[in-house]
Amino acid sequence: MEDLDPPRESVIAAKQILQALECLNLYWDGEVLYQSDRHTAYQLALNQLQEQTSVFPCTCNRKDIQQQGGIYQGNCRRRNINDSGLEPGNYAIRCKVSNSILEFDDLLQGKQSQNLESETGDFIIKRKDGLYSYQLAVVVDDAFQEITHIIRGIDLIDSSYRQIYLQSLLSFPQPYYGHIPVIINDQGQKLSKQHHATALDLSDPSSTLYQALLYLQQNPPNDLKKSKPSDILEWAIENWQIPKLRNLQKLDEK
Ligand SMILES: [Zn+2]
Repeated sequence: MEDLDPPRESVIAAKQILQALECLNLYWDGEVLYQSDRHTAYQLALNQLQEQTSVFPCTCNRKDIQQQGGIYQGNCRRRNINDSGLEPGNYAIRCKVSNSILEFDDLLQGKQSQNLESETGDFIIKRKDGLYSYQLAVVVDDAFQEITHIIRGIDLIDSSYRQIYLQSLLSFPQPYYGHIPVIINDQGQKLSKQHHATALDLSDPSSTLYQALLYLQQNPPNDLKKSKPSDILEWAIENWQIPKLRNLQKLDEK
């Protein structure tokens, strides 16, 4: 449960997500892991990065970085956490990236490559206000939960490079990645709470699941529409074909 940022993510939202999953017969293995309970694990990973001198304190603000063209230019790289004059709360912690091409094979999108230094820059691991970054948290959690496959929306594909980079620094195994196109609104925004999208219709879970399979190009048979959610999912597991998701992208491009 990605509840790193307490003011935005409420306890109610977390409950609603789990209720929606249950309603659709989507259950999870073991206990739900909450990022809000994982701060010690994130700090241990951060300590490790610090010992490796892979991180540094940064006092630049957003305006400074905008003036540098939006990509962090490594201004504070020579700084040390123990430098005099650095008070907690006055600096963020950034991860040093290298000037080399990082590549991975996406299960759907094929070969991906990026130069982290020129395209992303040294990125934040812990914010000035003390919050651990999403990138650090998910990498630590994925390793802890022994996640092998990460299938998610294409809006997150850019994060993969930073996550793979952190996995290598922390000697974690690298999972497989597959990024699926997401449904967008007229303005090209992902359907999400943030953009006030209508919530998932849970009054008819069978129809919701069936429509999802249709959208995902899995060609569910017509008579499945009226089946129980558990039967629809059973069919989906048996007939799930990742290559068909590539057709979905072609539809999106039209
Ligand atoms: Zn800086």
